[in-house]
Amino acid sequence: MKALLDRNKRLQIEALKGLIKASGVLGLDPTRYKNALKAIAPRPIAKNESKKRTKSSAKPSASIQRHPSSAKTSKKPKLLKLEIKNGRLALVFDSRVDKKSITHFILERKGRVLYVYDFKNVRIPFSIKRYRGGTFKEIRIAQFDPKRVRVVIETAKAYKPKLRDAYKTVTITLPGYSKKEKKSEAAKVSPKSASTTAVPAAFRASFGKKSYTVVIDPGHGGKDAGAVGYKKRKEKDAVLAVAKRLKKVLQKRGFQVYLTRSRDVFIPLKKRTKFANRKKADFFISIHANAAPKSGNRYKSKGLETFFLSPAKSKRAKRVAAIENSVDVSDLNRYTKETYLSLINNKKMVESNKLAIDLQKQILSSLRRKYRGVVDNGVREGPFWVLVGAQMPAVLIEIGYITHPTEGPRLFNPNYQNLIAEGIANGIESYIYHSR
Ligand SMILES: [Zn+2]
Repeated sequence: MKALLDRNKRLQIEALKGLIKASGVLGLDPTRYKNALKAIAPRPIAKNESKKRTKSSAKPSASIQRHPSSAKTSKKPKLLKLEIKNGRLALVFDSRVDKKSITHFILERKGRVLYVYDFKNVRIPFSIKRYRGGTFKEIRIAQFDPKRVRVVIETAKAYKPKLRDAYKTVTITLPGYSKKEKKSEAAKVSPKSASTTAVPAAFRASFGKKSYTVVIDPGHGGKDAGAVGYKKRKEKDAVLAVAKRLKKVLQKRGFQVYLTRSRDVFIPLKKRTKFANRKKADFFISIHANAAPKSGNRYKSKGLETFFLSPAKSKRAKRVAAIENSVDVSDLNRYTKETYLSLINNKKMVESNKLAIDLQKQILSSLRRKYRGVVDNGVREGPFWVLVGAQMPAVLIEIGYITHPTEGPRLFNPNYQNLIAEGIANGIESYIYHSR
């Protein structure tokens, strides 16, 4: 019995030593493993208990603090009245609302279209209100963060809403609105307070939150060109261009955005997530382009796929991971790699998986609005070292095959790049909307 305990302890100490070493190589904080090692060294522990200890100590200390900022409420226009009639939503404020302070975007998902309007620096005298009925599915108005009020019009079918601002009143047309329609009956709507219906997750989650932070990671750079594709064009250039466009789109929507590189420079993998952790990012999005294997029909493979980190070792995941995992992790021995992968935090893996699903869906839907033949290669999991150590939902997007004769050039087309950026931004919004 004593021999068995000793053996377990020895294995555990070995594992922890491996983790401390891996942390060093990957640029992670090894403190928790060092502490765990200290903790098990002086006294023997029963098998189950010791297992638990290692697991819990391996969890990232990633509860990112979200400080509600004290919003200044002095001069912001305040909402006085809210009306839904004659096919329009009217918001009446006590002072002038600048149209420039309103941003708009659309989210699509199965059977639902969400028209989102963000009002910067206005006040509402409630935290959330929901209305149902009429020609729309639901309208929600809520304080999205201290600086923004978000209005969401949810419909079953797409339509073209028009926004008008007339001094203190902002109106948005609803589905079925027509100019001819004069004084028709007011839509049958029933206001429901947040206490009686479930509050949409995103509104709750973002309450009192300053804004979400996204770290975008354009793959490769500098001496590392990434995949080289059709007409010798390089992955590192395409993904940097997409990343820059994504930054603009996200900033417009109120996100705090950082790039791991904004120039053609080489950055080791471990520094990329380290940077995201330091920025306390809520999301880590690594952008890459795929390349078909040289064997077989090289010009046939196309389409996009989104990966999240997991110990999975499917043939396909292995192949892509082998391309994307660069030299700077090859000095880890197999044992250390396996140990590390076996300890990937499960909750984070699930979150990353969900984020990947939303991203994949939204990028496809954005591209397919304008382009034909965009192939969905789905959401996949794999051992991507650039995602290891991220303390937030983290994904790697392969935006397309740089080796494909049609798709390759598209990846360098500004219009195509913008649609990818829009899709990624929609995916992040969609995840926030769904989460928690
Ligand atoms: Zn790549």
